[in-house]
Amino acid sequence: MNNTNSGQPEELPLHSDFIRKIIKEDLQTNKYGEKVHTRFPPEPNGYLHIGHAKSICLNFGIAKEFGGLCNLRFDDTNPIKEQSEYIESIIEDIRWLGFDWEDRLFYASDYFDKLYEYAVKLIKDGKAYIDSLNAEEIREYRGTLSKSGKNSPYRNRSIEENLSLFESMRAREFKDGTCVLRAKIDMSSGNMNMRDPVMYRILHATHHRTGNKWCIYPMYDFAHGQSDSIEGITHSICTVEFEDHRPLYDWFIEQLNIYHSQQIEFARLNLSHTVISKRKLLQLIEEKYVSGWDDPRMPTISGLRRRGYTPEAIRDFCERIGVAKTYTVVDIALLEHCIREDLNSRTSRVMAVLKPLKLIIDNYPEEQIEELDAVNNPEDESMGTRKIPFSRVLYVEQDDFQEEPQRKWFRLTPGREVRLKHAYIIKCERVVKDEQTGEVLELHCTYDPETKSGCANAGRKVKGTLHWVSAEHSIEAEVRIYEHLFLDTNSEKEGAESVETCHGMSLPLNPNSLETLTSCRIEPSLANAKSGSHYQFLRLGYFCVDPDSSDEKPVFNRTVSLRDTWAKIRKAQK
Ligand code: ATP
Ligand code: MG
Repeated sequence: MNNTNSGQPEELPLHSDFIRKIIKEDLQTNKYGEKVHTRFPPEPNGYLHIGHAKSICLNFGIAKEFGGLCNLRFDDTNPIKEQSEYIESIIEDIRWLGFDWEDRLFYASDYFDKLYEYAVKLIKDGKAYIDSLNAEEIREYRGTLSKSGKNSPYRNRSIEENLSLFESMRAREFKDGTCVLRAKIDMSSGNMNMRDPVMYRILHATHHRTGNKWCIYPMYDFAHGQSDSIEGITHSICTVEFEDHRPLYDWFIEQLNIYHSQQIEFARLNLSHTVISKRKLLQLIEEKYVSGWDDPRMPTISGLRRRGYTPEAIRDFCERIGVAKTYTVVDIALLEHCIREDLNSRTSRVMAVLKPLKLIIDNYPEEQIEELDAVNNPEDESMGTRKIPFSRVLYVEQDDFQEEPQRKWFRLTPGREVRLKHAYIIKCERVVKDEQTGEVLELHCTYDPETKSGCANAGRKVKGTLHWVSAEHSIEAEVRIYEHLFLDTNSEKEGAESVETCHGMSLPLNPNSLETLTSCRIEPSLANAKSGSHYQFLRLGYFCVDPDSSDEKPVFNRTVSLRDTWAKIRKAQK
C-alpha cells in the first residue's frame, strides 16, 4: 500500500485552543473584517521536523477551519546557511503532509527591495543609523539583563551621512563586518531586543534566489514582521521564544506606518528521547551519528516518512497534542501510538522471520507443497486473503525456541505442541546442535494432519501460535530495527557513563538505536513490494519498504513494534 495523499486533509473538527479563541473573537469584533490569513514561515536552513509539523497543522488547519488562506513563505534572509536543497525538501514535505498553499508561495527575498526602502525611510526619519563599531564592541555596548547598555559613539551621525553610508554599504564599498544599520530605539530598555537592534549587515555572499544582487541582507527581525505585513497576514502564529521580539516587530510596523499583523505565540513541541532543532539535527548528521536528514531515526518529516510514518498519523498526533503556551515534553510513545492506530487498520498481516532457525517436519511428504489461505487483515474483510506456501522445511524465529524453557513458555521446546499460524499443530521432537559450539542448528518436528487451520477439528487448543515461512519459497531480506535515538534521562542515573553524549546535548545517545539484520526470510507475497509500502509482520511490528530496497534484496524498516507503551503510560497516569 502506498501513501497516496493529495489536497487538504479530511474535515478537521473545530478546536477550542486559545489561538482559535482569539481568532473567533477577532471575527466577532470584525478586527480584520471576515479575513483569516495565516502563513507557515520556515527558514530554509535544514529539513522540516515534527515540531514544524505542529506549526504546519496549526497554520494550515486554522486557515481551512475559518475559510481563510495560508501562505508558504521562506524566510530566506541568511544566504550563508540556506540552500535550495532545503527549499525543495520543505516543499515536498508540506505537500506530503497533505497541505496546499495554491499559488501563495513567497520568499522574504521577494521583498528585499521593499525592505531596503523601509530601511531608508527609517534613516530619513532619524530612526536608524549606521554603526561602525565591530561585532565585539556592539556586544559590549549592549549591556546585559542587569546592566543598561550605552550609546554607540556613531549613534548621532547625521541623516545625510547615514543615507550616504547605507548607499555605500549597498554599493559594495565595504568589507563584511565594517558597519551595520541599527534601529535607534533605547539602549537602556529592559528588553534586550529593543537596544538598537541590527537591521542590516554586510555579507558578500551569493543568495540562492537573488544571486549577487545584494551584498547587504536584512536581519530576520527586520524582515519577518514586514513580510507578514506585506502579505496581509492577519494572525502571525509563532513559537514563544519570539514573544520578546514582538515589541520590536510592533515598533518597526508603527514607525513605518504599515499594515499590522497580530503575532500570537505558542509553545514549541518537545519530544522525549530525541532532539528537535535543526541545528542539533545537523550536528547529529555532521558527527555521523545518523546517515542524513532522512535517517529513519530522525524526528524529521523525511526521516519519519522513510521509517514508515503516514501523513494521517502525523496529523493525528499534532491534533492530539493541541496548542498551549506552557513548556511541555510530549512522550514519544504518543507519536508511536498514533502510527500504530493508523497502520493497524490499513496494513496486511504477513509473515517474516527475522532470525531464522530451520524447522523440519519429518512426517510431512518430501515433495508436497500446500497453498494455505491467509486472511490479510482480520479487522477488515475487504482486504481479502492470499495464499502462502507450506512445505516440509520451514524457518521459524530463533527466539521462539528454548531448549530448557522458562516458566510459562508456550512456544517451541522439545516435547511440546504449538500451532503454526494459518497451518498445523506441530510438536518438537528433536534438536540438532553444532557439536563444537552447542548452537541449535535445526529442529525436527512432527505435524498433526488433522489440525489444519480452518478445518473441522482445527480448533484443538494449544497455547502458542508462531509465525513461519517456507524455507524454499521465502525470500531473503534485510530488516532494520530502530530504537529511540536517545536514552531517556533516567538512564543517566543507571550508570550510563559509558554511553556517548553528543556534544552540547544533555541526553545520552542510545548505542542500540539501529540493528541491521541481513538474513531475514520473508513470505513470497512480499516479492516486489513497492518502496514506501506498509505491512504488519505478524508478532513483530509494523514495517515499511525502504528506498534502498531492490528486487535482489528487499529492505524493510521497522516503523514501530506492536507493544503500545502509550496505553501503559496512560493507565499509570490514571
Ligand atoms: P529550529 O529551532 O529547529 O531551527 P526554527 O524555529 O528556527 O526551528 P523555522 O524554520 O524558523 O525553524 O520555523 C518555521 C516555523 O516553525 C516557525 O513559525 C516556528 O515557530 C515553527 N517551529 C519550529 N520549531 C517548532 C517546534 N518545535 N514546535 C512548534 N513549532 C515550531
Ligand atoms: Mg530558526
